Amino acid sequence: MAQEAESARSAMQRDRQLAAITADSADAIVMLDNDGLIQTWNRGAELLFGYTANQVIGKHFQLLVPKSQQASGEIERLNQQLAERGYIRNMLTQRLTKEGKLLTVEVTRTLLRDEAGNIVGSSAILHDVTERERAQAQIREMNRHLESLVAERTRELSEANERLRQRQRELEKANAELLQLDELKSEFVSLVSHELRAPLTNISGSLQLLLADEPANMLTPNQREMLVLANEQTDHLTRLVKSVLNVARIESGQMPLSQQAFDLANLIKRNLEQWRLYDTSHVWVGTQLTNLPSVWGDPDRVEEVLTNLFDNASKYSRAEETICVDAQVMEKQIVVTVTDQGVGIAAAELEKIFDKFHRVERGDARQTYGYGLGLYISRKFIQAMGGELWAHSQHGTGSTFYFSLPLASNLNAPRTSLLGARGAD
Ligand code: ADP
Repeated sequence: MAQEAESARSAMQRDRQLAAITADSADAIVMLDNDGLIQTWNRGAELLFGYTANQVIGKHFQLLVPKSQQASGEIERLNQQLAERGYIRNMLTQRLTKEGKLLTVEVTRTLLRDEAGNIVGSSAILHDVTERERAQAQIREMNRHLESLVAERTRELSEANERLRQRQRELEKANAELLQLDELKSEFVSLVSHELRAPLTNISGSLQLLLADEPANMLTPNQREMLVLANEQTDHLTRLVKSVLNVARIESGQMPLSQQAFDLANLIKRNLEQWRLYDTSHVWVGTQLTNLPSVWGDPDRVEEVLTNLFDNASKYSRAEETICVDAQVMEKQIVVTVTDQGVGIAAAELEKIFDKFHRVERGDARQTYGYGLGLYISRKFIQAMGGELWAHSQHGTGSTFYFSLPLASNLNAPRTSLLGARGAD
């Protein structure tokens, strides 16, 4: 008897403790009868829904179910599931507070039976997950946003990539076309130049013969003047063809150089004599052109350089002015200078005149023939022989052109080489 009384006491104690836990739980814990009418309403339910126990006990729990949920048949579904399984676990749904605020809740329902096993109602525990769900929804939204950003960037990148590939294909095609064009140009230039050279030599030879051997009074002064003019023009054309051929060879690295030790002073003196006879409108002066050591280079090319510098000095200075040629040993080189008192070159033009086809724009430019190739070719020649070519000038008062060549004693260079191997670009 004493044992029974003891177990009844401890059962009552457990019931009281359970009732206290239920009463003070933060979750809403509600008991419903078989008709869904609210029988108990704990503190958690009061705090969650804003109703006191007095306000809701005896009322149907649909009071807490939003209209839309009722319309979708949620109450019937819940009752059916409960009847079939006896419980519902953590069902996510929405409920309404007294103030009409929507809450997201997890609902757990369990059927309640009496001692005889008859169903007497059900319990409902509602856990508020509104904040958690909102945070998760935000995270999902941010993820969606990030994913769409990444997708957008990926698309942009692949488009940019495709554009780059397309550009590269275009460039490669353009490059191939340019290379082909370059080859064609070189072939064309050398073909035309070669084809022009032979007839030009014949014409020039014939004209010179005519002019030299002409028996007295066979030609009228007018005819003779025309022959002289034709001879001059043929000369210009011959030099242009030679220059174009030189440029083509320089650029393809095919300009042969025959290097050797030779007497530069002698070469200058010879050329100076010829120019004195050829151009009598200027005063040609040579200084310090004796007792100079030999230089190392290709005398034919050096002669072409001298011809170009003398021709320029003559073309770009006025009649009666002096053109002075000088050569000096400096360190391990000989430096040749060609000085005129002519029109001079503006400082801004001084380096450009060595560019291909560059001619200084000025009023009288048309009066002087030329194509802006002489200095370009001359510099390439001299550089290929291990020297330099440069200029100083005062606009209006004349120019000095310098070129240097290494002393033969100072070098042990090969006898032949191709200009393209050094200097041509
Ligand atoms: P070209 O004389 O056939 O035009 P060059 O390459 O020999 O070609 O010369 C390039 C340019 O440099 C010339 O057009 C001319 O304007 C300028 N130039 C060259 N030499 C002289 C000089 N002695 N005095 C003034 N200008 C010069």
